[in-house]
Amino acid sequence: MTGKHPVKFDKYFNVVAGELRDSKTKSHGIDPSTKSELWPVPVATDKDVEDAVAAANKAFVTWSETPFEERLKMIKEYQSAYELYLDEFTNVLMKEAGKPRVTASGESEDALNQFEHNLKLKLPEEVLHEPDRIITTRHVPLGVVAAICPWNFPIVLSLGKILPAILAGCCIIIKPSPFTPYTALKLAEIAQQIFPPGVVQALGGDDALGPTLVAHPKIQKVTFTGSTATGKRIFAASAPTMKRVVLELGGNDATIIFPDVNVGEVASQVALGALFHTGQVCVAVKRIYVHEDIYDQFLEAIVQAVAKMSMDGDEVEAPWTLGPIQNRMQYEKLRGLLKEIEAKGLKLALGSGTVEESEGYFIKPVVVDNPPEDSRIVTEEQFGPILPILKWKNVEDVITRANNTKMGLAACVWSADTAAAEKVGRKLQAGSVFINATALTTPKAMLSGHKESGLGGEWGSTGLLSYCNVQVMHEFKLV
Ligand code: NAD
Repeated sequence: MTGKHPVKFDKYFNVVAGELRDSKTKSHGIDPSTKSELWPVPVATDKDVEDAVAAANKAFVTWSETPFEERLKMIKEYQSAYELYLDEFTNVLMKEAGKPRVTASGESEDALNQFEHNLKLKLPEEVLHEPDRIITTRHVPLGVVAAICPWNFPIVLSLGKILPAILAGCCIIIKPSPFTPYTALKLAEIAQQIFPPGVVQALGGDDALGPTLVAHPKIQKVTFTGSTATGKRIFAASAPTMKRVVLELGGNDATIIFPDVNVGEVASQVALGALFHTGQVCVAVKRIYVHEDIYDQFLEAIVQAVAKMSMDGDEVEAPWTLGPIQNRMQYEKLRGLLKEIEAKGLKLALGSGTVEESEGYFIKPVVVDNPPEDSRIVTEEQFGPILPILKWKNVEDVITRANNTKMGLAACVWSADTAAAEKVGRKLQAGSVFINATALTTPKAMLSGHKESGLGGEWGSTGLLSYCNVQVMHEFKLV
């Protein structure tokens, strides 16, 4: 069926019960590079929500019984259908998320790894032969899942939820961020060529839509990626219906650099780890702790590395090219943070505390030289191109400082002595620890936050299990 109904990327619809639905009320995204309005998108009505939930519950009856191998086969077809539209996804992503071409095509192509990973998964089953019974432990699909997504990686983060959900036998309703609705709506539209109606649906909407889905009694699970503040609201709102929740939340990731590293090389990599997608990455490097013996040298090297990045995509080689901040809200938050940095007289090694309004939401990178540990740029997730570089002397002390946060998403340690770095890494309170690398996540590994960075997790083989209930069958012989 793939390719039978060409999908056009100039009109956007909600996807309900196998139909493309418009709505009287529309919203639209903004291209952050130009501040111009993008295509209109329908705002889902209460009826759309009810119809989608009913269609998902209806589809679940047969989809959950569809053999696993059959589901895998259809996911493979979905991959082929997605691949036909890689260029379109890249082009739309550039507009909705403000990503330079290299970053946008990086995401649309990286999404293929989500397919490859899920196509290799299996649902484990354990059988124990006991003297009195046979005990079989299996994983059965939870039911209908609402997937609530953020704006920074709209394709990868949507597929990272759609694929394991449907592979496990669940039906899923995707709710993209109102800032970046376009690619997610098309992912669901393409899915209609392959899956029965109601298995994959998408609803775009306003601020009321997320809470409505979370409160809905006929939805069994919410998988959420976004800020810790929203995650807490969703966690609380899920209690009355005892919804299963997975929360992938914010981070304030520390990077610890030992004095035995190659300063120039590591500074370059750390700069990329901090500024990829202009710092709007959950696992971006957000606090950089450098040993005092190499501090001055490292500061100079990172300033040089950051200075060669460009917001004028054509002038520099990929991936040293930065886009704008994705939306006005985040842009103003960062401008406020910069104003405070300036007002407190913190030392800037690169950049300025003043951001002039321009054609788009552009903020040039700023490097802050050894700010106090209690300044907002150290204690809060900046989610933008402002890098605090901090000095350390004693290893136990730097571990304490790295852990002195409510967040615990990822952390990085750099040293020529890998064993020493790993020893430090084990003491860091973070769901993912990277030794001698920035946070190069992969769908093959579970992504999960410690502390207020999340609850449960996704990806890896364990992520699939979060879409399941465990059912244990105790089988006795009739006497
Ligand atoms: P956000 O929390 O503002 O919004 C995320 C989604 O939640 C949007 O779709 C929004 O419409 C919806 N929403 C808002 N209020 C809701 C409510 N009360 N009930 C239900 N849904 C609601 O987050 P954002 O600004 O889009 O994303 C940035 C944040 O996401 C950063 O903190 C970043 O670190 C985090 N993030 C985490 C991961 C991870 O894997 N841990 C990945 C990407 C981003």
